Amino acid sequence: MVEKAFVMIKPNAVKRGLIGEIIKRYEQKGLKVAAMKMIKMKKSQAEELYKVHQGKEFYQPLIEFILSGPVVIMILEGPRAIEVVRSINGETDPLKAQAGSIRGEFGISVRKNIVHASDSIQSAEQEWGIFFEENEIFEYLCGFENEL
Ligand code: ADP
Ligand code: MG
Repeated sequence: MVEKAFVMIKPNAVKRGLIGEIIKRYEQKGLKVAAMKMIKMKKSQAEELYKVHQGKEFYQPLIEFILSGPVVIMILEGPRAIEVVRSINGETDPLKAQAGSIRGEFGISVRKNIVHASDSIQSAEQEWGIFFEENEIFEYLCGFENEL
């Protein structure tokens, strides 16, 4: 089943020059980039994105961190994209994340764990709705389809 996942490269990863390295991993797995842009998130958008964590002790520092610099946001499309992206990203705590995952290879801090990805089809729709207009989400043939 083809799904769309909302993904964000967090401010520390942008500052460390990891944008290309991260997107490469999603592309080489075969996911299609359906939408992408670099933004400085508004406070209201960050609060909306992380509203399920409101009231937790890590919530305020997380919001401050997400607002601390530009982020790259995208919609990645493919079979079981939600699960695929979360597996490429690795566990929330980089020290527990599998060695070959993005967080496993590049992360140290739980808060600054390099990437965000939605955890369900419903949350994906809710999350990309915060940042993308319909006309910013593209449908196009991907990979070998263009060589036919
Ligand atoms: P995930 O991003 O893997 O879906 P969660 O939804 O549980 O993880 O948490 C959202 C984000 O909040 C995490 O990616 C991380 O940046 C931050 N976070 C979660 N738990 C903690 C924690 N115990 N301490 C600091 N930051 C945390
Ligand atoms: Mg989450």
